Amino acid sequence: MDKLTVRDFDPAGKRILVRVDFNVPIEDGKVKDDTRIRASLPTIRYLLERGGRVVLMSHLGRPNGKVIESARLRPVAQRLGELLRMAVPCTGDALGIGTEDAVGRLKNGQVLLLENLRFHAAEEANDPAFAKALAAYGEVYVNDAFGTAHRAHASTVGVPQILPAFAGLLMEREIVNLSRLLENPEKPFAAVIGGAKVSGKIKVLEHLMEKVDFFVIGGGMANTFLVAQGHSVGKSLLEKDRVEDAQRILAAAEERGVRILLPTDIVVAKEVTRGAEHKIVPVHKIPNSWSAVDVGPASTAAFEAALAEARTVVWNGPLGVFEVPTFGDGTRSMARFLSRHAQAGNTVVVGGGDSVAAVEELKLAETFTHVSTGGGASLEFLEGQELPGIAILRDRAAA
Ligand code: ADP
Ligand code: MG
Repeated sequence: MDKLTVRDFDPAGKRILVRVDFNVPIEDGKVKDDTRIRASLPTIRYLLERGGRVVLMSHLGRPNGKVIESARLRPVAQRLGELLRMAVPCTGDALGIGTEDAVGRLKNGQVLLLENLRFHAAEEANDPAFAKALAAYGEVYVNDAFGTAHRAHASTVGVPQILPAFAGLLMEREIVNLSRLLENPEKPFAAVIGGAKVSGKIKVLEHLMEKVDFFVIGGGMANTFLVAQGHSVGKSLLEKDRVEDAQRILAAAEERGVRILLPTDIVVAKEVTRGAEHKIVPVHKIPNSWSAVDVGPASTAAFEAALAEARTVVWNGPLGVFEVPTFGDGTRSMARFLSRHAQAGNTVVVGGGDSVAAVEELKLAETFTHVSTGGGASLEFLEGQELPGIAILRDRAAA
């Protein structure tokens, strides 16, 4: 990797300001899902074991510059303390005398968590004075928050403009796995793209078009492609103003010799709700008053047959309305198939957001080559964009 990491400096005795992504669900004052906290443990432990003084900072939710009691990070500090088996104090505010004092008293091998950064509007505004105040807490900066690396905020861009900036171990894992897809994927390389809308995935499709051998397209966005091919999709989610984009993508794929596999059969439902009447129809027979809610079994079989040949697969976006369990068969089949495919020695990366939720729900996350912790960030990465929070980290060549 061309970015310097925590392994490229000596943490002993240093105050290290670490941006983590502790944006976790909190219910009744307790952390409901600690996946993101666990994901940051390797970096935190690495620094603590080597005598670093670790100052953690994160956002939680969208308090928009105001103190919101339910968005306090105390429950996170509590959970992190349990995982690390040590005290993790949480300050009452990211700024102020009390916080400066607590940071100053940190000893080697101790850790502290700053209160929710987004209680200050200055965080998202990337206010230079706020960045300077945060930077004063550390001698070195580490970013392990891949999930916010696509945002240019004080804690992701402002602080690393001031302090020497390194990638954390999670950040490194994300960059290595995602850039391998874009730079030298083992061929054949396939992208499975689903989700609600074409509009959100056009840039990914266009960028991956130059890299992949074939696409599998499902989910709500497939409807727009089906219309582009002359089918009608009844009451299904459809972006009428994107049909031309879909046609353009189909034409570009044809020109490049990139195959696009679309569903051939579809699960349609009278309503997109639990318990609604539903049936399987071929794509050219979607009834007028029904909605496409999932890919059908023939599509799943065809997708799997094609993907079986792929040495590298990236998956982004569920293939149906998987939140309604009856309409989640296509997504669950894909998750199970790709899990087996990864375990058979192929590279399979799941890129963030709802597709990751589907994989985690089935407890299959561990079986994949990589499951990204960033929704929007992984999407922007796959679009080929440079993420500001990564760009700002020190380059190996320049060191
Ligand atoms: P990701 O977060 O993995 O990138 P998206 O956010 O793009 O995925 O899309 C996820 C959403 O797409 C889910 O809420 C799912 O219900 C919805 N979806 C999938 N298939 C359909 C469909 N056929 N009709 C409507 N919505 C769909
Ligand atoms: Mg999503």
